[in-house]
Amino acid sequence: MHFETLAIHDGQAPDPQTGSVTVPIFQTSTFERDDLEHRREFFYSRIGNPTRSALESTIALLENGRYGLAFASGVAATMAALHVVNPGEHIVAGNDIYGGSYRIFEQLLRPWGVTTSYAASESTESYAECITPKTKLIWIETPSNPLLQLSDIRALAALCKERGIVLAVDNTFSSPYFQRPLDLGANIVVHSTTKYLGGHSDVIGGAVVTSNPGLHTTIKNYQGAAGAIPAPWDCWLILRGLKTLKIRMKEHEASALQIAKFLQQHPAVKEVFYPGLPSHPQHELAKEQMSGFGGMVTFALKGGLPAVEQLIARIKLFVLADSLGGVESLISSPAKMTLWALSKEVRERRKCTDDLVRLSIGLENAEDLEADLLNALAG
Ligand SMILES: *Cc1c(COP(=O)(O)O)cnc(C)c1O
Repeated sequence: MHFETLAIHDGQAPDPQTGSVTVPIFQTSTFERDDLEHRREFFYSRIGNPTRSALESTIALLENGRYGLAFASGVAATMAALHVVNPGEHIVAGNDIYGGSYRIFEQLLRPWGVTTSYAASESTESYAECITPKTKLIWIETPSNPLLQLSDIRALAALCKERGIVLAVDNTFSSPYFQRPLDLGANIVVHSTTKYLGGHSDVIGGAVVTSNPGLHTTIKNYQGAAGAIPAPWDCWLILRGLKTLKIRMKEHEASALQIAKFLQQHPAVKEVFYPGLPSHPQHELAKEQMSGFGGMVTFALKGGLPAVEQLIARIKLFVLADSLGGVESLISSPAKMTLWALSKEVRERRKCTDDLVRLSIGLENAEDLEADLLNALAG
């Protein structure tokens, strides 16, 4: 069956007891047992809840994976996925990644004896060079944040398979509609469902999908033991978002491409980063491993930080905010906002310069967005 059909039907059949067409919100902490010896499928909502189950199986299907697990946030999902690494072992991560993932590697895992090295996100050779005998997992985010660089999932999956390393992919920026890493050989997919999967800027959530029973068991045990689970109501909101994922992603993409082309020919703009532009250094790889290029556009302004500040002061429709993937367009300064936690030195090594602007293209009319940018970039 096709993606949009799965998103609406699978994992969320009408409620057998009442016929309710949408999955009910099972707002309960616990479930009655049959007797002392037997408990039913659900017994305590930290371990399992029917609304969460529906979300978990729907996300797994959309990623073409066997097992899905939902979490209270994207970083909770990241932390759970990384629990497959043990103290004394090593991780190789891309250097252009979500700031919160970097914080997990450096502030949470390193003191617990798990070290991380950083490879150039766009280079398979660079990942290979960082591997040591202790490397247990490679962590990639593709397209990356904020520079929208790609990592070659198929090539890295082959490398990992050969070396017995787990390949985990943060698929938040593409969503499973445009990219399915498990199909390309990855072992684990992680999402911040706060972004495109929820899609309406009204809920924080995360998910992990894998087809490997051993990895699933480890991560599921961590989910139950550490307890960073989403509330039933939040699961329901994300389920609702998933039903329109296809039509939203198509629209985000069409407008993003239009805006990227507009920016590319604007005299105030130094460089545009969007995998859908033929000028993107990895446009061919993007066409191979993605079925669309997504709704995020990053660009650099010739006038540096003062020009960024002026643009942000003048823009009207784009909301100055940190997140992405919602119906409303957002604008941000990666150096000043999402990556503030990194030192200037680390930011510069990552080429995350002060002149960058990141746009999350929403579902407004693209011509209105373009006019807003044109007006704000003028003078
Ligand atoms: C937002 C984000 C996260 C973290 O998700 P939260 O839901 O904010 O915890 C992880 N990875 C990427 C790529 C993100 O954009």
